[in-house]
Amino acid sequence: TAGKKAAARKPEYLTFEDIGGQDQPKREITEALDFLVHRDKIEKLGIRPLKGILLTGPPGTGKTLLAKAAAQYTNSAFIAASGSEFVEMYVGVGAGRIRDLFKEARQQATKMKRNNAIIFIDEIDGIGGKRDGGQHREYDQTLNQLLTEMDGVQGDESVRILLIAATNRKELLDAALLRPGRFDRQIQVDLPDKKAREHILMLHARNKPVGEGVSLAKVAEETFGFSGAQLESVMNEAAIYAMRDESENLRADHLTQAIDKVMMGERMDRETNS
Ligand code: ATP
Repeated sequence: TAGKKAAARKPEYLTFEDIGGQDQPKREITEALDFLVHRDKIEKLGIRPLKGILLTGPPGTGKTLLAKAAAQYTNSAFIAASGSEFVEMYVGVGAGRIRDLFKEARQQATKMKRNNAIIFIDEIDGIGGKRDGGQHREYDQTLNQLLTEMDGVQGDESVRILLIAATNRKELLDAALLRPGRFDRQIQVDLPDKKAREHILMLHARNKPVGEGVSLAKVAEETFGFSGAQLESVMNEAAIYAMRDESENLRADHLTQAIDKVMMGERMDRETNS
């Protein structure tokens, strides 16, 4: 229904406190964002406006969460797209879609009376992969349009646009994207270490009745190599096991089963993909 759709579109209220671990990326991104927040000072000093931040790292580590929290932190309108939407589009369609994205961002910010808009493009390698000398003309046009729009972002506009892009395959990106004035801030977002895993588990346990016999520190120890997204799954699956057992809370054995299940799912994914 229309009401449901509107609810789904409503931007989530998400802050850096809702992101587990990732202390270094959080620090780096807020430092960069302070340029946007203290816009007047930056202009007075003649510093070139920040236009793009590139988040690199494996899937499910919180890159999308960081972009959403960035919008909250800077009081910006937020609009998201995925580079995969642009693959195999007819000539001109991709470029048009990029143009619309910037237009929509400006409109949304104006409507919300915000000075800033953040455009988040996940899987940017779908648009900004290395150009190969004219074989993929459409691909080039889309990328060129993105570069043109980024170059056109000026410090003195009423709505300042910041691009945040994410990729797990930085080596595929066209060098033009990484030049100064484009995505000149790059932030590496890695898999969480043990302490960070515990923090992430804690965040996803907030809305769940976790039994006294459960040690999230122990779960963190047993989930080496898990991403934030996988840890979220572990908590969710454990709750499902608890429900099946008609248990009022999540027990240690539910968590053990959940870890196995998520690990198994991962293995099956890898086998079907190879
Ligand atoms: P992808 O590259 O696959 O798009 P991503 O890095 O953008 O992945 P997110 O979409 O931010 O990953 O994370 C997916 C989900 O995993 C989040 O909605 C959240 O539930 C959980 N998650 C991931 N990382 C964290 C984290 N650091 N803290 C808390 N939850 C996390």
